[in-house]
Amino acid sequence: MSEPFHPAPDSVSRARLAVCVFCGARAGSQPRFLELARRTGTAIARSGATLVYGGGSVGMMGALADAALQAGGEVIGVIPSTLVAREVGHGALTRNEVVADMQVRKQRMIELSDAFLTLPGGLGTLDELFEVLTLRQLREHDKPILVVDDDGYFAPLVACLRNIVAHELASQVDIDVMERFDTPEAALARLGLHAPPT
Ligand code: AMP
Repeated sequence: MSEPFHPAPDSVSRARLAVCVFCGARAGSQPRFLELARRTGTAIARSGATLVYGGGSVGMMGALADAALQAGGEVIGVIPSTLVAREVGHGALTRNEVVADMQVRKQRMIELSDAFLTLPGGLGTLDELFEVLTLRQLREHDKPILVVDDDGYFAPLVACLRNIVAHELASQVDIDVMERFDTPEAALARLGLHAPPT
């Protein structure tokens, strides 16, 4: 049973909640990944929340941002200067923050956001997910950590985490903070955000 979501006081003073999305910088092997990224961007924009993400314009990340912008949403990108060329920094965001390195990028995305939503992705996505999970384990934040487990993509990761708990190398309570949903709309509803149907 997840705890009720109370946005941090600084977000209450802002007009919108900010949802940080972690996902692949690649498109992946199946069209469903790009579709999921687009659906998530659209849903965040239509719910009235701000999208915070890694600032690139390629792969799932690009599809996510393009869809949110197309739906009239506010999008903040945070990208290290070293990656602007490789991940093709998005030129049309509401705001693009170019930061010194990967560590600052993660810190800044955490600072700017009220909740984290992970979609399928690769090693970078897992790094970002584990950053927020481990910081929450250390009680350095208490923001919701939501995962859209599209088509069982994260089932092997969940099995790995269960195995870690079974070996008493992590606590169940610190694993349970990762809340899984079938769809981005269900994940957003957890935050009290609703995307009106088109
Ligand atoms: P990937 O899931 O590998 O496609 O990467 C998704 C995003 O995570 C990309 O924007 C990467 O630049 C980013 N990323 C990769 N490694 C790291 C890292 N160590 N810390 C923060 N972000 C990273």
